[in-house]
Amino acid sequence: MEHVATDLIVIGAGCAGLSLGFNLAEMGEDAPKTIFLEQRSEYHNDRTWCFWGYPNTPFMELVQNRWSKVRVKNSKDRNALIECESSPYQLLIASDFYQHTLHKIEQNNKLELRTGIKLINEPSLIGNEWLVQTNTGNFLTKAIIDTRPLPKDSMRDTTLWQSFVGYEIECEEPLFDPKTAYLMDFCEPNPDFTGFTYVLPFSPTKALIEFTSFGSQPYSMEDLLERLEKTVANYVRGKRFSIIRTESGLIPMGLGTRHPNYTNILPNSYVQVGVTAGSARPATGYTFQRIQAWAQECTKELQRTGLPIGHSADSFLLSKMDNIFLNVLRNNPEMGSSLFMDMFTKVSHPRLIRFLSDHGGILDYLAVVTALPPLPFLKEVFRFSKK
Ligand SMILES: Cc1cc2nc3c(=O)[nH]c(=O)nc-3n(C[C@H](O)[C@H](O)[C@H](O)COP(=O)(O)OP(=O)(O)OC[C@H]3O[C@@H](n4cnc5c(N)ncnc54)[C@H](O)[C@@H]3O)c2cc1C
Repeated sequence: MEHVATDLIVIGAGCAGLSLGFNLAEMGEDAPKTIFLEQRSEYHNDRTWCFWGYPNTPFMELVQNRWSKVRVKNSKDRNALIECESSPYQLLIASDFYQHTLHKIEQNNKLELRTGIKLINEPSLIGNEWLVQTNTGNFLTKAIIDTRPLPKDSMRDTTLWQSFVGYEIECEEPLFDPKTAYLMDFCEPNPDFTGFTYVLPFSPTKALIEFTSFGSQPYSMEDLLERLEKTVANYVRGKRFSIIRTESGLIPMGLGTRHPNYTNILPNSYVQVGVTAGSARPATGYTFQRIQAWAQECTKELQRTGLPIGHSADSFLLSKMDNIFLNVLRNNPEMGSSLFMDMFTKVSHPRLIRFLSDHGGILDYLAVVTALPPLPFLKEVFRFSKK
């Protein structure tokens, strides 16, 4: 069995692992010797990433679609058109990102990606180094970045789950306005979750249509398929279409579970990152840009100290606001659509976009707070202060 010594092991080479790899590749010969251990054998176009684009957003060159108009509406005819020319809503497809980052990593001989890998057991500390045992060999490393998502059973204290399933469809007739995306088209309020359809039109005949729920329960793809089928039928209005691709996901919003704390054993030599370790913005689930910010910071830290860092914590104010908002949604799912509609109709759109995409300042936070009805939030603050 092979034994390899290295500076850094990255477990999992998805969005976080490959984003870090891309940044490390730019260090050239100065990059730490890094091995990426990935369980999948091949990369497929398994997801799309959307975010509000600001200047200097990483991977802008890969953006496939941009929408400078985004619509939000509920079932009671309230609706808002968000004009976002200066920070358009944009989409990057995973297969382009994988190809681009894998190519860059391949060009740096300090970096190596191994696919089809299975860990035989959890990494263990031997002296000052970590031993990682896999089906293809053993690795001794000074540091580990673990991007594996935690199983959902171990995340029972998550405040809210964002569950979604979507079809990318091609229609025989033009049905969509490719200039306007639907960020949230709410379904009838219900006592279990806040539900909405998300529509990204790529052309007059092609769109990604997703059904999403924000609820205290995580829903599987199968649980949501019926809702998706109904909403797709609604959008295609009886016209013929074919399904090109299906995507689904589960994003924890508001983490309650702490990862096992390896940092106590050997400070900063083992960090957990990714969607179950704080990369997702609690109130929105947006993750992609936060991963990019982490990948840049972590690269600098590796350059400076030889050790990695995890995601940085949100400011006290932002995390409290997100926490209260998520708890209001969790305890009042039937109010979800009207709360979002209040936000989208009462807050100026540049402010709201800054708030949603982590670019907000205190005045933006204040504008969001004053747009929302005080009673459910005061109740939640009261409940929170009694804990
Ligand atoms: C369908 C979908 C759409 C999304 N859309 C958006 C969006 O529009 N905007 C946004 O901001 N966020 C979005 N997200 C959320 C988030 O950006 C993604 O989930 C992102 O991929 C998270 O990156 P990650 O590295 O944490 O996880 P992943 O990208 O899932 O990477 C984890 C990697 O670890 C590997 N792995 C797992 N277990 C092991 C193991 N035991 N050994 C070795 N490797 C292992 C996996 O194969 C995978 O490659 C979406 C998520 C999904 C699922």
